Amino acid sequence: MTSATSTAPTTPAALLRASPLPPPEARILLTHVLGWRPTQLITRSDEPLGAELVERYRALEARRAAGEPVAQLVGAREFFGLDFEVTPHVLIPRPETELLVETALAALENLSRPRVLDLGTGTGAIAVAIASMRPDAQVWALDHSAEALAVATRNAARLLDAKRPGGAVALTQSDWYDSLDAALRFDVIVSNPPYIASGDPHLAQGDLRFEPRGALTDEADGLSAIRAIIAGAPTRLAAGGVLWIEHGYDQAEAVRKLLTARGFTQVRSERDLAGIERISGGRLAG
Ligand code: GLN
Repeated sequence: MTSATSTAPTTPAALLRASPLPPPEARILLTHVLGWRPTQLITRSDEPLGAELVERYRALEARRAAGEPVAQLVGAREFFGLDFEVTPHVLIPRPETELLVETALAALENLSRPRVLDLGTGTGAIAVAIASMRPDAQVWALDHSAEALAVATRNAARLLDAKRPGGAVALTQSDWYDSLDAALRFDVIVSNPPYIASGDPHLAQGDLRFEPRGALTDEADGLSAIRAIIAGAPTRLAAGGVLWIEHGYDQAEAVRKLLTARGFTQVRSERDLAGIERISGGRLAG
């Protein structure tokens, strides 16, 4: 026998009540399918929804319940107040990476028309956030993945003023510094490289299972990309230029040692909102 509730019109309130997902995730998926603002889930909560919308919502809900990241299901994630396109080809921007942007912006404070390089840009989140806060900055962003560069190119085009004085972000396919014009010198180099060690169990858990493995792990001890970035930085930095790198919760001391061994001064780490030493950097004497 068909129950009365299954034939009753399905409303946003009913879908959210029945969802197996954490409520904030269910709300994000539902506003995405309906094309509504979050507040409309409240003001229109008892409005009957068409069967096609209900089906589309239920399909996304099932995929999320099976593990797919919310950011990939809706194709977007907010970072530094900007709405970035996300695909399965890029790392999903993380809130703790905003610390890297803030620290880079502080290093740029007294410079006009500074030059900035972002290595392994992925979505372009770091490069685009810096470029949006500093319209005069000239920004280069590299990635070895052509698919990632396509996403970053769309994000930069959509989120930045085409007439910004620093010009468009220069996006280039490159294995770290390899394809970069060797004559360029930067005031700030930043990177959120793959820093998870190959055997780390986190790679087989949660959202990380669905993100590009090459954006997460160096397939080694977790420090090999960081070593390459630090090794190549001094010849790419202008005198007095700074390098800041994001790293894992237990890598700060190792990264500070690498920076010091390569001749960086004022080497230090900064803690994220969880109190974890999340980024380390230093200045090239000069
Ligand atoms: N912070 C990410 C995580 O642990 C890793 C990102 C990276 O390797 N750069 O989920």
